[in-house]
Amino acid sequence: MTQGMITGVKRFEIHDGPGIRTTVFLKGCPLRCLWCHNPETNLPGAQLLYYPDRCIGCGTCARLCTCHKIGKDGHTLDRMACTGCGMCVSACPAKALQLRGRYVPAEELAEELAEDRIFFDASGGGVTLSGGEPLMQPLFSVELLKRLGEMGIHTAMDTSLYASEAVIARVTPFVRLLLVDIKAIDEQVHLRYTGVSNEPILRNIRRLDQDNRAMEFRVPCIPECNMGQIEKIAEFVGLLKHRYPVKLLPYHDFGNAKSQALGRKQPRFKIPSDQEMEQAAEAFRARGIAVKVSGKG
Ligand code: SF4
Ligand code: SF4
Repeated sequence: MTQGMITGVKRFEIHDGPGIRTTVFLKGCPLRCLWCHNPETNLPGAQLLYYPDRCIGCGTCARLCTCHKIGKDGHTLDRMACTGCGMCVSACPAKALQLRGRYVPAEELAEELAEDRIFFDASGGGVTLSGGEPLMQPLFSVELLKRLGEMGIHTAMDTSLYASEAVIARVTPFVRLLLVDIKAIDEQVHLRYTGVSNEPILRNIRRLDQDNRAMEFRVPCIPECNMGQIEKIAEFVGLLKHRYPVKLLPYHDFGNAKSQALGRKQPRFKIPSDQEMEQAAEAFRARGIAVKVSGKG
């Protein structure tokens, strides 16, 4: 039995690949993008979220577990000592605590996902693995993708491709469509905003292009961080052997509240204007690349 750690499953998604999709969010990511909208998936283990505005200071959690303390400064939480057992979450009367991350067997999850097959068949949809980074759990991803494939369900994977050649070779043959993020071309820019080099990412993209794999590129657009890279990204995509479609994702701040609940501070960036997004799209169109701006039909 192959188990994986996921934060959840979202049904009836229309932005994670073709048709109506069910998206599975896997835990663990090797990148730390400053604008991450799913920070609760960053770590491989379960993570506790605490929403102070909901807390009524009843002290139930502190009586149950030494990780919680109620003092004159209110509620404090020792996250390093938390084992993710979830006891405090079930006991909290105000729903101020949430646990993100649970183990699930691939076989069981595949059966559950197949229940939506009628929607997949009617819309040309399927299942998308997202995260986090699904390549961080290669055995689980393979087992799940293999089972879905055997049931005739279309599979996609939202990935940074920041992984070893061996992992890419093991997992990607089971994925019908790779949704690959490109955040920057200059290594220093990539390092500054994601914490890792993009050298393996660009190398893996070139290799998969040579292997004739179906890909779609996703470019998050954050004016203060990577929009100066758009021309270079368009040039890189335009020089690949195949013509892949591109989706531009304008920055949004959905990750900030979750980050705060995780005890972290995430910077806030400017939301790009329609004009900035149009200009970015033009860089791709000018090279004959099909491009869409997310949220614009
Ligand atoms: S999840 Fe378990 S270990 Fe973590 S704070 Fe709650 S009760 Fe304590
Ligand atoms: S149990 Fe919930 S409401 Fe009560 S102190 Fe703990 S976090 Fe706050």
